[in-house]
Amino acid sequence: MFYLENQDLSNKRVIIRVDLNVPLDKNSKVTDTTRIEACKGTVNTVIELGGSCVLISHLGRPKGKEKKLSLKNIVDTVSIIMGRPVLFHEDCIGIDAEKATSVLKPGEIILMENLRFYDNEIEGDMTFAESLSKLGDVYVNDAFGTSHREHASTALIAKFFKGKKFAGKLLQKELEVINEIAEKGKKPVLAILGGAKVSSKLKILYNLIQKVDKIIIGGGMAYTFIKAKGGNIGNSLFEEELLTNAKEILKIAKESGKEIVLPDDTIASTDFDNNDQIKTFKSGEIEDGWMGLDIGSSSIEKFNQTILSSNTVFWNGPMGVFEKEQFSKGTTSICISLKQAKENGVNVIVGGGDSIAALKKLGNKEWVTYISTGGGALLESLEGKTLPGVKALSNDY
Ligand code: AMP
Repeated sequence: MFYLENQDLSNKRVIIRVDLNVPLDKNSKVTDTTRIEACKGTVNTVIELGGSCVLISHLGRPKGKEKKLSLKNIVDTVSIIMGRPVLFHEDCIGIDAEKATSVLKPGEIILMENLRFYDNEIEGDMTFAESLSKLGDVYVNDAFGTSHREHASTALIAKFFKGKKFAGKLLQKELEVINEIAEKGKKPVLAILGGAKVSSKLKILYNLIQKVDKIIIGGGMAYTFIKAKGGNIGNSLFEEELLTNAKEILKIAKESGKEIVLPDDTIASTDFDNNDQIKTFKSGEIEDGWMGLDIGSSSIEKFNQTILSSNTVFWNGPMGVFEKEQFSKGTTSICISLKQAKENGVNVIVGGGDSIAALKKLGNKEWVTYISTGGGALLESLEGKTLPGVKALSNDY
């Protein structure tokens, strides 16, 4: 892999795949700028090396061209953080987009419209990747958070830049730090996984269980595992087609002396949106009509003990629907336990938008050993895998 340092970029238009997938409020205002700040180093370096910047990114999961997910909503914030004017173009491919980037002068920055306004982006469409490649002379991948996906802008586009593709400063730093901690992190190593879907983290779990000593599974993901152990989960989130996989993962863990720690209790409601009724159940004893939306107090205590008895902890994903106050306690408690663990000398690595947002709610997050901009990408790097977006930067890709 090649790094940006010492490259001659004078008069080059540098396409930088950044991760500007920032959280927005109802009025499409940016609520957390971590990811924008994280790509400033690369933008500055490209400009210092004589180039101009064509920023390409996705934002959310739009269905078609959804105005509220237009990157135009964030261009002013990007400009303030970069400390320079940032131009915007209302498309990311096509003749007009190419024209807009062709007139860039060294030191100028342009942000192109949301890549995911085209389904071709996640479908990994080569023609779309080729169209994107026409926006510049050099390609830089700095989107660590999406480098575990083989999308048009994170991987395929690199095929058009043999000898002219580089890792950005953020990507470089993330990989160096994570590899260092993954290799040298003191055992026992614990991974804490949460969030809604098992499907998005299933493959990771198979490999992760070989690499770490314990895995805590919380959030909506946990119920498929509780069901796999024969429990009743009422109307909680459940991915039926993954039941066999969940059983298999539990079996692999048992056979290899690894521990999968599941919640003992759950705070449930009868409706996802209307939470007038709230009740605590033991994990495998949730009544029909109730859905688990957070972990309960026994789980909080059990997870706390698991965290405090580890020496290295990776955390990605909330323990419940933490966006709602009444179901945020499980996730907040993880933050509190992690802080205590850090004070006891434990290495604490936190990754992913939701986990960072939860940390932020508690105030200062400087105490964390390392905050990664990636969630899935952090976990996949931890598995020891070369991410597709990193592989694509080698010249034999
Ligand atoms: P993911 O995108 O898979 O990382 O999931 C993040 C989302 O999971 C957050 O928006 C949470 O609100 C949601 N979540 C966490 N726990 C649950 C649960 N028990 N039921 C439904 N959604 C959940």
